[in-house]
Amino acid sequence: MADLGRRVRAVVEAGSEQAVIDRLNELLGCAQVHPRMTNHDGTLHVHYSREGAPAVEQLTTTVAVGMAMLVTRYGWARLGICAAEDCQGVFIDTSRNNSRRFCSETCASRASVAAYRARQRGQAAE
Ligand SMILES: [Zn+2]
Ligand SMILES: [Zn+2]
Repeated sequence: MADLGRRVRAVVEAGSEQAVIDRLNELLGCAQVHPRMTNHDGTLHVHYSREGAPAVEQLTTTVAVGMAMLVTRYGWARLGICAAEDCQGVFIDTSRNNSRRFCSETCASRASVAAYRARQRGQAAE
């Protein structure tokens, strides 16, 4: 699991198209892709790992294929690391104006609360 996180971050931090390709290919090399259609949750979609595969294998495969498709669609420069202080989350920025900074709504609201508190402290000190 830690290994997967490390590989994912290596892709995000690659910094050039060729480096992203190389590192993503390394990640894809760990994937066990056996695509199949499913509607287990009521919506028709594709699963990329084999049925009943161990959790690590499923996650690695899903993450590797998912990242490859997102990078293909949105471009490698849209990969980002969460700007929240204690978060290592990664994301792909699909916003129109390329303005995403956090991995999740949770981190975004935590950061705005922290910024608000910091401003308040600043005012109190003046
Ligand atoms: Zn599913
Ligand atoms: Zn985050």
